[in-house]
Amino acid sequence: MLLLEKATHPRHKLCGGGVTRLGLDTLINLGFSLPLPIPQARVDDVRLIYGTRAIHVHGRPKFLIFHRAEFDAYLADQARHRGIFIKENEVVEAIQEDAQGLTVKTEKGLYRARTVVGADGSKGVVRRLFKKPDSPSRVARLLEVLTPASENAPHFTDHYALFDFTPARHELQGYFWDFPSWVAGQPKYNRGVYDARFAIDRPRADLPHVLDIALESLGSELVSKQVEGHPIHWFSPRNQFSRPRILLAGDAAGADPLFGEGIAPALGYGQVAAEAIQKAYENQDFSFHDYRRLVLRSPVGRYLLLRWFVAWWCYQLSAKPWFMQALWSFGKIFALLWPEPRGLDGAFDADDNKSPSVNLTPEMGLQGKLDRLE
Ligand SMILES: Cc1cc2nc3c(=O)[nH]c(=O)nc-3n(C[C@H](O)[C@H](O)[C@H](O)COP(=O)(O)OP(=O)(O)OC[C@H]3O[C@@H](n4cnc5c(N)ncnc54)[C@H](O)[C@@H]3O)c2cc1C
Repeated sequence: MLLLEKATHPRHKLCGGGVTRLGLDTLINLGFSLPLPIPQARVDDVRLIYGTRAIHVHGRPKFLIFHRAEFDAYLADQARHRGIFIKENEVVEAIQEDAQGLTVKTEKGLYRARTVVGADGSKGVVRRLFKKPDSPSRVARLLEVLTPASENAPHFTDHYALFDFTPARHELQGYFWDFPSWVAGQPKYNRGVYDARFAIDRPRADLPHVLDIALESLGSELVSKQVEGHPIHWFSPRNQFSRPRILLAGDAAGADPLFGEGIAPALGYGQVAAEAIQKAYENQDFSFHDYRRLVLRSPVGRYLLLRWFVAWWCYQLSAKPWFMQALWSFGKIFALLWPEPRGLDGAFDADDNKSPSVNLTPEMGLQGKLDRLE
């Protein structure tokens, strides 16, 4: 197995860095023990906000936040220790198919391969082979900003992360996020906006403006130089996942359209792709005609199908306050009844788990700002 990577680890990757239980369970299945020996912020209380209403979703932890450069460099290092050869600083430029196999052309040379996994992200070259002129755009837009924080800030001490859907009133098909994060040993706020663009016939939200208002509500200024943007190609059961000898995984195959979550799904796709390749070698059949079925029936496929289904309903109607109010009423009951996932085998200190409730008043937070704007 040869891994071709255009950058050199640790490489810059724009990302909130939140890894949910699906991803943590995949890491455990791969033989990692938690906590990983790299900086991370723990989130035990996910706060889903709409206006002054909050749904709390608890878990110990609900998810972990890593700095992607550190997380990916650590995983790449672990892969090397397990015998995988990684060629960094080598850009794949094209893939040519013939009857005997594939030729992968990089800026440095040519490689022959029996199978290629396109795990090269939302803007990768492998997926371009799959593109048809009439294929619909399934791409979300994101903006992110990292600002200095104090480790005594409530995000860090109370282990919470915020997903604020209030800007849905202003055409955002998504939310503003506010995460605690550790970057090179320094506490930071990782904040940004996610716009699924799921209902493409609806007007586009003005992302910099939405981010500006959200940051202002938190007393933080928008410094345009600090803001970076990147798209996410999202999952739909109608996406094409394979063709003979080629499989897609991660963002190339499609991330979760509801939250834009892609790290845990990418790890999950990896497992399905590995199983498909193992089967292909056993049977000497590289058509991968059943990869779609394998993906859709796998835990990651079921996870993404559910998120896609909820996104389909929610982002058609998210601009309507009555719908969001009803959703929050339903969600609150659901969150109370839904059992908390099992703790991660004492890997994390349970006593450190403080989760006070938020008391948002109309003047506070993003809703106050939006109301004043109106
Ligand atoms: C602003 C933002 C915030 C996000 N926050 C979260 C979050 O909190 N939690 C979450 O789960 N998801 C989040 N996501 C989504 C997440 O980042 C992606 O879903 C995830 O990184 C997908 O992993 P991947 O391995 O498929 O692709 P990538 O992480 O994009 O990796 C692709 C790799 O391929 C390499 N590559 C690309 N092209 C080539 C080429 N031609 N030749 C060789 N190598 C190539 C790249 O250098 C890169 O290393 C966020 C995304 C954005 C943009």
